[in-house]
Amino acid sequence: MPTPPRRNRTQAPLRPRRRPWLLLKASLALFTLLLLASTWSFTFSRLKHEEHLVIEHAKVSQQNLAHIIAENLHQVLDRGALYALLVSEWLSGDQASAKLNLSAMLTGDRAYNRIAVYDPRGRLLHSTSPAVEHDDVASSVRTIIAGDQGDASAVMHVGPLSRDYGQSWQVPLLMPLSDAGGTLLGVLVLHLDLGYLLQLYQDIDIGQSGIIQILESHGRELARARRGGLEISEQGLVSNPLPADNRAQGSWISPLQQDTPFLICFHRLTNYPFVVTVDKELDDILAQFNARKDKDLLLISFLTLLALFMTAGAIILIRRQRIYFEAMARSEREKRGLIEQLEDEKHRAYELASRDHLTGLANRRMFIQLASSHLARARRSRQHYALMFLDLDRFKAINDTLGHKVGDLLLQVVAQRLRETLRESDVLARFGGDEFVILVTGLEQENDILTIVEKLVSSIGKPCTNLDGHDVQVGTSIGIALFPRDGQDLDTLIRHADMAMYQCKKANRGSFAFFDQALNVNITQEFELEQRMAKAIASDEFVLHYQPKIELENYRIVGFEALIRWQSPEHGLIYPNDFIPMAENTGHIIALGNWVIEAACRQLAEWRAEGVPVLPIAINISARQLRDSSLPRRIVGKLAEYGLEPALLQVEVTESSLVENIEIARGILDELVAAGITVALDDFGNGFSSLGYIKTLPISTVKIDRSFVRDIQHNSDDAVIVESTIILAHKLGMRLVAEGVETRDQLVYLKMAGCDEVQGYYFSRPVDHARAREMLLEPISVPT
Ligand code: C2E
Ligand code: MG
Ligand code: MG
Repeated sequence: MPTPPRRNRTQAPLRPRRRPWLLLKASLALFTLLLLASTWSFTFSRLKHEEHLVIEHAKVSQQNLAHIIAENLHQVLDRGALYALLVSEWLSGDQASAKLNLSAMLTGDRAYNRIAVYDPRGRLLHSTSPAVEHDDVASSVRTIIAGDQGDASAVMHVGPLSRDYGQSWQVPLLMPLSDAGGTLLGVLVLHLDLGYLLQLYQDIDIGQSGIIQILESHGRELARARRGGLEISEQGLVSNPLPADNRAQGSWISPLQQDTPFLICFHRLTNYPFVVTVDKELDDILAQFNARKDKDLLLISFLTLLALFMTAGAIILIRRQRIYFEAMARSEREKRGLIEQLEDEKHRAYELASRDHLTGLANRRMFIQLASSHLARARRSRQHYALMFLDLDRFKAINDTLGHKVGDLLLQVVAQRLRETLRESDVLARFGGDEFVILVTGLEQENDILTIVEKLVSSIGKPCTNLDGHDVQVGTSIGIALFPRDGQDLDTLIRHADMAMYQCKKANRGSFAFFDQALNVNITQEFELEQRMAKAIASDEFVLHYQPKIELENYRIVGFEALIRWQSPEHGLIYPNDFIPMAENTGHIIALGNWVIEAACRQLAEWRAEGVPVLPIAINISARQLRDSSLPRRIVGKLAEYGLEPALLQVEVTESSLVENIEIARGILDELVAAGITVALDDFGNGFSSLGYIKTLPISTVKIDRSFVRDIQHNSDDAVIVESTIILAHKLGMRLVAEGVETRDQLVYLKMAGCDEVQGYYFSRPVDHARAREMLLEPISVPT
């Protein structure tokens, strides 16, 4: 029983999924951090590079400056060396005249304050200044003479600093004098005026922190010039650790004073023991760069803060968004839950409203809903539907006498039996009281309803035991209305089925009745006939009629088909279509079939005994007979019993009867053919119509169904089927017989199409044995 559709719940609960949110936040944070890290690292490396460039640039300019100053100093010292050369010549020549020359030498040379000459014994020979020479100088002279001060042959030695008249700082340059032979002639002392010298450099713009230093080659600082003025120290100023490798020039960074790092560039004079350095405070060099660097760092820091701030803002926003979405999802879940709850309640309410509480069957309301939708589909299909109204006989009496409880139990049992008997696709309902309504769906043919109704009647009619201690047996009255014959809509069908049920009850004719009276007559007859069939077989109420088969080549009769008729004393002559299906259903067909075999054989034997030239007779074999494996034995036995050759008998089977049980059928046909009996395929075209399938069976003749012959000239589909069947059958070596030929046109058409034999009213209707005998004796007069 179908139930009303219920919403399919796919409750995938909307669980808050935090992972994507977390991922989003983490990637955002990571992205920002990476961006910042790369920005900072790029900035730092750029600044470092720039700083390096600035220092390199300063180094070059300081180096150049040191070089220029060194050149200048070199020139001054060169003059000193020249004086030494001149004095050497003087000492080795006339000393008196040279005295004048010495004084004149220094005239105009402001670099040197004084010139003094000592003899090889250290005694002052001459001095341009009357002032007494410092003791330090005299002792230095003696040291040179004694050869203590390193290389006595060195061009120049630097003496201790002194202050001339307490005014200008000067440094004595001691130069050993020797003749061409290398003999020491004396020592020349030249007092280099540091004040004058450094004054020259004072105007050079070397910046706030710039310092120009004159160092002795060992590193002792002699003097320094800076923007503020000159600085000279007797003890020597801070010494610089000059590189030991005697490089001509170079640079390094070291603190000069107060731990402030300086960039120091030096230039060593080539022939003289002096070194010039140009120093500049590193901070001074980098001042501009540092200012720019600070600005850059400030900007980057600001951008970093901004990025961090924005990221934090975005993360907060994402978090809020997540909270918002989660809240939405929660509310959606709650809403969904609520809807489902409502739907459940609705469904329950619907179930309650559409079910019959007692039996659990659909009630009227649900029946109408379900049956209507079935009928809507039925209109589009070619199938038949039946509406049955069912009422229990004597229910009221049972209810009144045995009590409601028994009545209720009885209704439940009946409902159960109905449910078991009907198919899943049928609609079953209880309308109230003892009224049940059924819509039987999808019937291939109207007759099929009989099988169902009989099953229902017999099922309900069975005794119901132990209903609250009582055994009860009830009958039923069923009214049947057929769709579409008895009504196109549900209301009409219910009304008509109801009327039929009342008719059935009123007439007390049996347990069911059709709304269509004509059907009722047939049923009645059918019932009666069914009851009478066994008796009729026994009392030989059946006869065979014979219809000739004509060969189209020469229009001669080549055989007969035996067709059974029932000569009922009550109903007159009944044709096979009215009793063969029933005989099939009841099983009487086996006895009937046996009777036909016997009758046909008997007839052939009789004719032969009378000297009539006999022709083969075809008998029809039903599906039920084809399941009976003793059939061939029986036929062969009968032929033998009447002394007939097997070729005198042909059997006709239909496609559908073969298909029902192909393996047994094949066995039976094989046996028959083996015994010499031929097989014809009857009503070809109605069933599967597959010659490919049939060719596996021992069939010698195909009989085209008369429904194809009827319209053969007007229906091109039929004509194509007939023509192709003829061609194919011939290819398979079979003979073709056309059934139901009623007109000359059909005959001509079939002959043209290549058909072998015809059978039909055009030549002859089925005739009794006497007329058949005449036909055998005198050839048929063929109408032309
Ligand atoms: P079928 O075997 O196809 O038999 C041919 C049917 O077509 C016969 O109907 C015959 O009277 C009818 N017929 C022949 N020529 C014409 C014609 O020109 N026009 C029309 N409209 N009909 C024509 P019948 O005798 O009523 O038999 C009906 C069916 O009953 C048969 O069809 C066959 O299937 C079955 N039947 C007949 N006799 C027997 C029998 O002894 N045993 C079994 N099992 N079935 C039988
Ligand atoms: Mg036949
Ligand atoms: Mg036929």
